[in-house]
Amino acid sequence: MTKPMKGKELADLIRQDILAQTDAWKARGIEPRMATVIVEGDPASLYYAEAKGRAADKLGIDYELHKLPAHVSEEFLLSVLDNLNKAPDVHGIMLELPLPKHLNKERIISAISPLKDVDGLTPTNLLAVVTGTPGLYPATPLACLALAKHYGYNVAGKHVALVGIGETVGKPLLHLLLREKATVTACHSKTPDLSVHLKQADLAFVAVGRANLIRPEMVHENLVLIDAGINETEDGSIVGDAQPEVLDHVAAMTPTPGGVGTVTTAQLFANLMTAMNLQASREEERTR
Ligand code: NAP
Repeated sequence: MTKPMKGKELADLIRQDILAQTDAWKARGIEPRMATVIVEGDPASLYYAEAKGRAADKLGIDYELHKLPAHVSEEFLLSVLDNLNKAPDVHGIMLELPLPKHLNKERIISAISPLKDVDGLTPTNLLAVVTGTPGLYPATPLACLALAKHYGYNVAGKHVALVGIGETVGKPLLHLLLREKATVTACHSKTPDLSVHLKQADLAFVAVGRANLIRPEMVHENLVLIDAGINETEDGSIVGDAQPEVLDHVAAMTPTPGGVGTVTTAQLFANLMTAMNLQASREEERTR
């Protein structure tokens, strides 16, 4: 029977774990705190940044939102990040993307302290994903893999079709999949016929950002499909990269909304806990 792989159950488990960890930090006199920096201009980013504030609230995590005007200078934005890097009471920093075109994205991302980079955007953390060393890995790829595992689908020894190798989802996910010993076919905009690869795969992870990309005739009944795509339709509703009807033609599939995104939000705060642990061990090393 086809299973919709909803994200709520796993997200609840992750949140329970975070609540236990935040209690433990507070018992030691440390209040976990996340800071988000947003350059205004993209309404969707502002919506997500405010939603993360509400999520933090429910987890007893302090949250500060730094809204900078659309015309902010690069130097000012860098100084805001520098202050947050140095602030001992701020444990995680998120920079909302996209940034306006006049700002050098690479330079700004690189200015975030890798130990506070809960989105896993900095070169140091991207390298950690590739090498498998401790670091802060991007939340969405972690959420994709965790969802598959939660529903009992391990990727080791399986043929995985990865559709989309973007910087935030697909590329880090490729390395996580390889480390889990999956055999991966990486598909992108120049892949002529996605269905050739989807038909051969045991699992498919899709992260493109194009509604209706995956249609029922492209899949098979034993496929497990994890859809990270987020697309806004003309009527304002949110859909994934796979048509919802694909669910009737595969073994299991994540819904959108209510799938990968739900777990990603919880995973972001799990990353804050990882960041706090990394910062504490760094401090211990320093004072030893
Ligand atoms: P991105 O950087 O724009 O990358 C898109 C990827 O899709 C690229 O590798 C591109 O190929 C590939 N692609 C484009 N058209 C294609 C086609 N027709 N067939 C196959 N591949 C194609 O995007 P991203 O930042 O990784 O994000 C991907 C999606 O995930 C977006 O919908 C985004 O909103 C969503 N997302 C979801 C979450 C969540 O929490 N669920 C979080 C972050 C992002 P090339 O490499 O050849 O250009």
